[in-house]
Amino acid sequence: MLKRIPEKFLCLLLGLLLPSVCEIRAGEPMQVEIDCTRPQRGFIESTCVIPVTKMDTVQTVPLWYPKWVPGSHGPGGPIANVAGMTITGPRGETLNWVRTGGEVYRIEVDVPAGVATISVNLRYIINQPTTTSFGHDCFFAKSIGVVSPSCLIVYPDGVDADDDTVSVSLMLPAKWKSATALPVAEDQGEMVNEWESVQYQPTSYRVLLDSPIMAGLHYQSLPLAEGSEITPPHTLHLFGDSEQEIQLNGEVVAKYREMVRQTSLLMGSHPFDRFDILLGISSQLPKNGLEHSRSTFNVLPASSLRNLGTLKGWDRLLVPHEYLHAWCGKYRRPQGMIKTDFHTAKDTELLWVYEGLTQYLGELIEARSGLMSKEEFEARLFVELRNATHQDGRQWRTLADTGAASHILRAGSDRWGELRRSQDYYMEGMLFWLEVDARLRSLTDDKISIDEFCHRFFHVDEPVVSPKGYGRAEIISLLNNLAEYDWDGLINRRIESIQDRYNPEVAALLGYRFDFDEAKQDVPKETFRFRGGADFLDSIGVVVSRDGVVTRVKLESPADRGGLVPGDKILTVGKKLWSFENLEQAIIKSKDSKQIDLSITDDDNVRDVSLEYGEGARYYRLSRESETETVLDRILQAK
Ligand SMILES: [Zn+2]
Repeated sequence: MLKRIPEKFLCLLLGLLLPSVCEIRAGEPMQVEIDCTRPQRGFIESTCVIPVTKMDTVQTVPLWYPKWVPGSHGPGGPIANVAGMTITGPRGETLNWVRTGGEVYRIEVDVPAGVATISVNLRYIINQPTTTSFGHDCFFAKSIGVVSPSCLIVYPDGVDADDDTVSVSLMLPAKWKSATALPVAEDQGEMVNEWESVQYQPTSYRVLLDSPIMAGLHYQSLPLAEGSEITPPHTLHLFGDSEQEIQLNGEVVAKYREMVRQTSLLMGSHPFDRFDILLGISSQLPKNGLEHSRSTFNVLPASSLRNLGTLKGWDRLLVPHEYLHAWCGKYRRPQGMIKTDFHTAKDTELLWVYEGLTQYLGELIEARSGLMSKEEFEARLFVELRNATHQDGRQWRTLADTGAASHILRAGSDRWGELRRSQDYYMEGMLFWLEVDARLRSLTDDKISIDEFCHRFFHVDEPVVSPKGYGRAEIISLLNNLAEYDWDGLINRRIESIQDRYNPEVAALLGYRFDFDEAKQDVPKETFRFRGGADFLDSIGVVVSRDGVVTRVKLESPADRGGLVPGDKILTVGKKLWSFENLEQAIIKSKDSKQIDLSITDDDNVRDVSLEYGEGARYYRLSRESETETVLDRILQAK
């Protein structure tokens, strides 16, 4: 409130000039009507009725389209999908607007003297997400849809995300139901003409932009915490392409109930008063998901959710990962990522906590709730240790920098992705927190673990609406309270320093050995992030497609030094034609031959290359040190 006084004062002063520049302070909520009655046209619409301070002269009103949408970690509000923005005064007169030079998300509207409200009508193209807006965009198919309110509003400059309020109503096709964490107004649910209409209670901008709405013709809801000791009600809202698809398999529902129970035991308290898991079961909408404070948005195909045997990989991880974010990322959030508006740039360096810890806890809860077996967790650990080992970009870019530069790394890189690096704070962040868990256990004779860390770090006495910030120092201080160790040095080495190579010390701490073997590790093909195929990165440093095209070369490997480049096609291996088996045999025989001869084409020319290599077959392998219980066994044990 304090910071508003000078703004009003400034407003009065500027009123003496023509035109004046003034922030909007009428104290009443903005009204937003979202119209999704005809999504088959490929767009949906909204009208934002914005109260402005009545002035005696023409004033310039600045408005923003949300730029930094919560959960996306970048300035990626999908403004390119706006296909109409008409601004009118109270008598329907069209008002002119111009874009602010140098800032595409901000516009300035000329508002005539004496005007107290303006209306902004937005037309938004659905089903056209950008790389960064994918999780917070709007999607519709024949009988299911997802509305992200951030796509459909503009807000006045100077708005406070927590103090200022918005009143929202939604229109849907006839007979469609909807679910969201937004509290519904008491007099809701009336038909307007042939459309379904829902009125929500006035809410803060923060809550509105954090509350996607899922809707559809086919709907059912299931309680997930009923009859348990868990206080906040949890509801699984199922929408689908058909009535059949919302009949979710009983075993899967039971595991989601166990996920809620195991998470409650891990965390000890809940930052929300109720939780809504919105799950779209659709092959017409893209697989997708995003975290929110009191809900999660998830879309998976029916083929994945058929039973526990078909629910694997990313699809299985989605619901637990987004759910864990209610604590990690939404309630406790890096201080640099908490802003009171949706256009101020965020500092995303601590994503190794926000996403890395969530990645770890999500997979931990997958295992503890029985969604994932211990063997599957071991396979995941192997895949991530090996990926980290080949991620050579660490020689110039720290893991922390993959967080700081998160939004420019969201899209993959077809070539040399391991040198550029990706959003590695997810998976290497997971390995880091797994190491923290193992170290806490080894320092305290197994008395203290990540569970105690979570109990304290995420402790909350009562439900909250706004996030609580933290910094690097709080993490270190809490860890030291749990068990004294050079946590500062560990974070510095693992996260904040450039490194020659990845240090897989976590494997030994868990009771495993991670080293070379002549035989390839057997990894189930549906393991998340496992690619398989003709992968010889561990020996000659190359990945080749089944038809002999080089897709990846490791820098400074025998393949790189021999002159192989991505895109080359291998024609022959020694005196034999290309085949995966012939290259594999040549690698085995290199112990004697000390080299591998290939003929290559780059489409235009044929050339011979000779790779200097004499180590034979060589593959990374993760194996248990002993058959007795390991640290990892204890970590994964259900509570
Ligand atoms: Zn996440």
